[in-house]
Amino acid sequence: MYSVRLWSTRHARGFRRAYAFVERIIPGLAPLMRAVGLTRAEAVMRPLERISKEFLFDCRMCGECVLSSTGMACPMNCPKQMRNGPCGGVRDDGNCEVRHDMPCVWIEAGLGAQRIAGLTGAGADLSSAVMPSLPPRNHAHDGRSSWLQVICGKPTVEAIPRFSEDDVVRHEPGSLENACHSQRFVVTVEVAPPDSADPAALIARAARFKGLVDAINITDGAGGNCHMSSVAASAILAAHGLIPVYQVACRDRNRIAIQGDILGAAALGVQNILCLTGDDVSQGDHPEARPVFDLDAVSLLRVARGMCDRGLYASGRRLDKAPSLFIGATANPFAPPYADRILNLEKKVDAGAQFIQTQFCFDVAMLETFMREVRRRELHRRCKIIVGVGTLGSAKALRWMASHVPGVHVPEALLARIAASADQKAEAKRICIETITAVAGIDGVAGVHVMGHKNEDVLAEIIIESGLRQRQRNA
Ligand code: SF4
Repeated sequence: MYSVRLWSTRHARGFRRAYAFVERIIPGLAPLMRAVGLTRAEAVMRPLERISKEFLFDCRMCGECVLSSTGMACPMNCPKQMRNGPCGGVRDDGNCEVRHDMPCVWIEAGLGAQRIAGLTGAGADLSSAVMPSLPPRNHAHDGRSSWLQVICGKPTVEAIPRFSEDDVVRHEPGSLENACHSQRFVVTVEVAPPDSADPAALIARAARFKGLVDAINITDGAGGNCHMSSVAASAILAAHGLIPVYQVACRDRNRIAIQGDILGAAALGVQNILCLTGDDVSQGDHPEARPVFDLDAVSLLRVARGMCDRGLYASGRRLDKAPSLFIGATANPFAPPYADRILNLEKKVDAGAQFIQTQFCFDVAMLETFMREVRRRELHRRCKIIVGVGTLGSAKALRWMASHVPGVHVPEALLARIAASADQKAEAKRICIETITAVAGIDGVAGVHVMGHKNEDVLAEIIIESGLRQRQRNA
């Protein structure tokens, strides 16, 4: 079946043409379907659709067929149910973060979209092959026939329009938002919440950065591991005069729980959120847990913006008081499919991301390539790009991270330099400071996001020694 699915994306152009032709003529069957009765018609159509699309595309009968918008690759085959492009965990060989034995569905989708657009060759401009932004799944449609909807003239799913700056409801900006709109180089840091019901250790670790950073990201079950909830840890920091960025992952909660947590966070003084899809559960300490992935990062951004700017839940129900939040998202310029990463970033900006924090940058040349395209598309003028940097204590620890943490790329030359040093920890720190200096010189970079697991003292030294707080921004 899998080889048939690959064959289908290889022939995406022909399938797309056939689909377009059928879409034009098939509504002619609508009177017949109505005469038979839609329930009876669906009982006949459903098995026919299931058998043929399962054979050709590994279709899962989501009832919202988007094959012609996704290069004839079914996004339901993505273990994270991503609807709007690849997650940040695609492996160096292009295989899936979760299912190592199959190529990422979104690499297939990108190739299919290029074929539909008639683009070939490594240097092809993918702009015209851009796949539209899709709304979150409507699970009430599971198992329904998409063909019947097409016959009846209903779109199976409608692409969502680009977020408009006119939609933004102006609110009193928080300090991270103010920093992002100043000319100062922004510094954020990542702190993992504790495995404890006592907040004292969290407060002490976060307080280490008072006066050194503009905000402190609180991770949300990073790596699929369980810790104190991000919303609680963020609220604790806010209550202690610190500026948290509440990271919201789609892995563990559906849209009802996520919206409730966003409201709760805002009510408890949190002013910044970071929307991300999240690492799969198979990477963490509860691999037997059921992943949720009801939303992906792009649809979560839409939901959060709708709450803040329109005062509406995703259902359309009105909030009594809308939250005021500075809303961010992530990007990974260091994982394949590289050309699609910029399109993925653009989708997030179109969905309303106001700031972006990237995966660890250990390869400045790759970042420069990415930022050239960011500037060409003027994305840095629509959102602030904050580049992830960091350090670990040894070449062995870095090598482990590169092979176990999805989406982290560490060049061999850098590993060799650290391994050859008599003091690996000091060398890794030196490299981090050099990376910060190089990153700060790239036009369009608004700041750095400093990461290093439970390594707060070294991170604070790096921030001080690199002179980050005194830096002005390039362009
Ligand atoms: S790498 Fe990520 S986006 Fe690609 S198929 Fe796997 S889970 Fe989905």
